[in-house]
Parts: sequence; structure tokens; C-alpha cells
Amino acid sequence: MSRSNSLNGKVAIVTGAGRGIGLEVVRLLGERQVKVLCADIDIGSAEAAAAGVRDGGGEAAAVACDVGKSADVSKLVDAAGETFGKLDLAFNNAGILGPMGTPLDKVDEADWDRTLSINLSSVFYCLKYQVPAMLNAGGGAIVNAASVAGLIAAPRNPVYGATKHAVVGLTRSAAMQYADRGIRINAVCPGIVETGFSNSEVRQEGLPTFPPPFIPMQRFGTPEEIARLVVWLLSDEASYLTGEAVGADGGWRHM
Ligand code: NAD
Repeated sequence: MSRSNSLNGKVAIVTGAGRGIGLEVVRLLGERQVKVLCADIDIGSAEAAAAGVRDGGGEAAAVACDVGKSADVSKLVDAAGETFGKLDLAFNNAGILGPMGTPLDKVDEADWDRTLSINLSSVFYCLKYQVPAMLNAGGGAIVNAASVAGLIAAPRNPVYGATKHAVVGLTRSAAMQYADRGIRINAVCPGIVETGFSNSEVRQEGLPTFPPPFIPMQRFGTPEEIARLVVWLLSDEASYLTGEAVGADGGWRHM
């Protein structure tokens, strides 16, 4: 069965593109003929991600960007226009785990500030600069990376949980502001996904690697399972969804 590809020729920004879920989204967008600007604080990994798309016959470029810095994000959005002429899509994905396993009364205030900056202020900066660029392009679609920890309690990491709840709230409200101007804004809320990020969580907390008893599917997710959802949300196949926080957690939050 052949299906039309609504993403063909679109221009996307992916933050945290160098590895994990972001890298998988870059790969799938490249396969769908999207021109991808790969942003990461680790420029070497962003360059490798972009090279992967070009090796497959697609178009991609890399930009060094610390999403916790407004000026970097502003330059990133400018680079989409300069490199590919417009901006249609964004996956605002870069994030950190923060002070995992630390009771709140022991959390260092600098860790609180850093986690809020990279997980939450970053999404504000991205929306602030991406929305005008997308309005110029006649509309667009944005997906923000939240987490199951944005929907239910995160007792092992309340700082992380606070940032992801805030990303869900920001996503919903921003979606309402631009719903009638052709920009859809949604969030994905993964459970534990097999990436470097979750491996550090498992190491630090001694969580069982398998089987995880709190996950009804009895396994972790893969980056590709999350990436397929993200690409679907960015595509016209999700044309009537906005303000959603879509879970992908093997059933965890329904336990
Ligand atoms: P990862 O650690 O494997 O990759 C994150 C990428 O972001 C890396 O390439 C890193 O260099 C980059 N990055 C880190 N700080 C940055 C900064 N300040 N500016 C720009 N880039 C930066 O992470 P992942 O597992 O792929 O997670 C991606 C997103 O998904 C995060 O927002 C995370 O909170 C969320 N998430 C992950 C899981 C999971 O289990 N892996 C679960 C739920 C939500």
C-alpha cells in the first residue's frame, strides 16, 4: 500500500539530536524526506546524526546549541531559515535527568536551577522563537518531550517530575494560543526507554532491568517506538490533535 508522505520537503529542528530518542527521530524524519537541523550541546554527535541522513540521500545540517541558553536557541531557529529557507516542524527533545534519587530536602539549589533551565526554560525558548518562524511558513507542528513523570508522581526524582509536569502544562496552554493559526503543539510522555539516559537511571537507582514489575508490558520502550509516535504527531496524519500529552509507557501510568 502506498501512502502519501505529508512530511516530504518540510524543514525540522530536532534538539538533543545526537543520541537516544532524538537521534531516532532524526533518522525517521530523514527517511520521510524532511530536511533536518540537528541540534545538540555535543556538536560531534549532532554532526554524526546529520551525516547519517545525508548518507541516506537526505538533507541535514548540524548546529551546536545549549537549549538552556536563549541566545543559542534563537540562533538555532535563525539557522533553519538560513540553511533550509523556512521552519515547519520541531521536536524539542533535549533534557537531563537532574538529581535522581535525592530527597527534596537534600537537593542542591544549583541542581534545581540547572534542571529547570535545561528541561523547562529550554521549551519556552524553543516555542518563543519557533512559533514566529512557523507563522511565516504558514503553519507548523511542534512536539515537546515530556515524560510519564509529567503525568504521574516521580517519587525518586521530584525535580525532574516538576519540570515534565510543567512541560505538559506549557504545551497545553501554548497549543491553545496558536490553534487557530495553523500550529499544532503536542507532547510525548514516554515511560522508561532504553537510552543512555535511562541506563543512568537504572544504574543510579538499582531499578530492575528486567522484568520491571510496574510496567504492564514487562519491558522498557525502544527509542524507535517513541520516535514513530513523534513523527506521527508531526505529520498531517495527526492533523486534528493539539494540546495533547500522549503517553507511550507500556501501560505504566494505568497501573
Ligand atoms: P539521552 O540522554 O540519550 O540524549 C539526550 C541528548 O540531549 C544528548 O545527545 C545530549 O547531548 C543532549 N543534550 C543534553 N543537554 C543538552 C543541552 N543543554 N542542550 C542541547 N542538547 C543537550 O536522552 P533520551 O533518553 O533520548 O531522552 C530525550 C528526552 O526524552 C529527554 O527530554 C528526556 O527527559 C525524555 N524522556 C526520556 C526517557 C527515557 O527513559 N529515556 C523517558 C521519558 C522521557
